[in-house]
Amino acid sequence: MARINSCYTKLASGYLFPEIARRTRIWSAAHPGAEILKLGIGNTTEALPEVLVNAMKAKLDKLSCRDTYTGYGDEQGDTPLREALRDFYKEHYGVTLEADEFFVSDGAKSDAANIQNLFSEDCVVAVQDPAYPVYVDSNVVGGRSSGFENGAYKDLVYLKGDSSNGFVPEPPKEKVDIIYLCFPNNPTGAVATKEQLKAFVDYARANRAVIIFDAAYVSYIEDPELPRTIYEIEGAKECAIEINSFSKNAGFTGVRLGWSVVPHALVCEDGEPDQLHKMWNRRQCTFFNGASNIAQAGGLAALSGEGFAACQELVDYYKGNARIIREGLESVGLECFGGKNSPYIWARCPEGYSSWEFFDFLLDRCHVVVTPGAGFGAAGEGYVRVSSYGHRENVIMAVESIKEGLKK
Ligand SMILES: *Cc1c(COP(=O)(O)O)cnc(C)c1O
Repeated sequence: MARINSCYTKLASGYLFPEIARRTRIWSAAHPGAEILKLGIGNTTEALPEVLVNAMKAKLDKLSCRDTYTGYGDEQGDTPLREALRDFYKEHYGVTLEADEFFVSDGAKSDAANIQNLFSEDCVVAVQDPAYPVYVDSNVVGGRSSGFENGAYKDLVYLKGDSSNGFVPEPPKEKVDIIYLCFPNNPTGAVATKEQLKAFVDYARANRAVIIFDAAYVSYIEDPELPRTIYEIEGAKECAIEINSFSKNAGFTGVRLGWSVVPHALVCEDGEPDQLHKMWNRRQCTFFNGASNIAQAGGLAALSGEGFAACQELVDYYKGNARIIREGLESVGLECFGGKNSPYIWARCPEGYSSWEFFDFLLDRCHVVVTPGAGFGAAGEGYVRVSSYGHRENVIMAVESIKEGLKK
């Protein structure tokens, strides 16, 4: 008799995006013909850079010819791509890593969900609040919470971000084993300074904890003082795994390609030296058959000089949108965070509005869909996330509509 993994029943119901879709559907049905402007989901909208498209077409041509066809590649990723990632970290971040410390994957979300599998079920997990939901949900399914109560998962440690700490929390006071960090942050747009990241690295080394660092939005950082990778911090190779993706810089949300860095030097409380690296290698070889070879050809092109420049143009387009949104919202008195080294604007709801109430207001009054902050954790209550992913003309219309709606 098969029995379910009962941890699934502990997941809090009402996943954020289906609930947004439900409310939007109801509103649309009641207002036939009214156009809705979407600044909700963090999904890219602009065409792929031509350099990347050409590289993927060339790969397809090879696959269409018997002499140059290739099937399965290495589970860890194509060697040229892993070497290009190594060279990219060296050239752009001044960080030295080995090519075999890079594991290419089908995206950062899968890696973020799967990585918890390396750790014992009784590890104590700390997450930022608010946070991208996959860190929490994967650990709940992995058995690290005994249930959801009063808006929070039991046994998890929440590191609260708010306006007083600029949405960059301090390391936990208690002893935890695994810490998820995401900078530039989704949803708040906050970016940790080197000093702030160093505090986490020092904590992790002192406690033999492991940091899972999600750097999916690194290409949106423009301030030269801000760290681009956790490995800019001394000692991070001993205590941090970095997860990254081509989704938000190269427009690969649909193409699918990411990577994780699992350093040889990474240690934890009871493992042998190099053990976590070997375990992730083992995990990927057994449970994963490698990322698409077409996507990897595109990723390789994205790391070239020409490809990188084209990707940065794409990033600049979204950052232009972010600026329009932030300036527009601030002009009608909304307090905004993020939107500078990040594609997300984190806006405080007007006095008296909860996240969902302000969501409903913006939908009803302005016909604009945003994301209620409360969907990212209890500390997100009282905020909404406004995404800069969208065509410029739609972003401008949405911002004008919000300005109109909030004036009255
Ligand atoms: C979009 C996003 C990712 C990227 O996920 P992919 O699976 O690579 O598309 C990772 N982390 C965060 C926080 C994100 O917002």
